[in-house]
Amino acid sequence: MAEKVQKSAEEWRKELSAEEFSVLREKGTEAAGSSEYDKFTPKPGEGHFVCRGCKNPLYSAAAKFQSGCGWPAFDMCYEGAVKTNVDNSFGMRRIEILCNRCDGHLGHGTRCTHSRLLCISCSLAVLLQCSRARDSARKVSHAATSGTA
Ligand SMILES: [Zn+2]
Repeated sequence: MAEKVQKSAEEWRKELSAEEFSVLREKGTEAAGSSEYDKFTPKPGEGHFVCRGCKNPLYSAAAKFQSGCGWPAFDMCYEGAVKTNVDNSFGMRRIEILCNRCDGHLGHGTRCTHSRLLCISCSLAVLLQCSRARDSARKVSHAATSGTA
């Protein structure tokens, strides 16, 4: 597991755009359907999605799929890359997905069949990086088994 990244709000503000800061550090949400990665499906092996805040690799390109929910969705994550938190805000019980390295808010998850956890992320929180070598070298696991909640 990589070193934890801890920065003050001021430090994050300098590195992130206002929108990225809102999502990653203040748990903001982009409007459904506005995501730049929503309708975009990379080819398997094309790289991986990393945390916009600390560049922690989160999901391989192959894990992305069309969920139809309006945000990018992934059915697998790299082992230990994300963690989950039960979020009871707005009168709903949801599973929050966080970067396990910098605690940045990535989006929400929902459990579907086979008890897999689907990670629904904001594209402001994730960034596609093409890096085949690193992609194939990493272990992939179901998100549901890597969470700590
Ligand atoms: Zn991060």
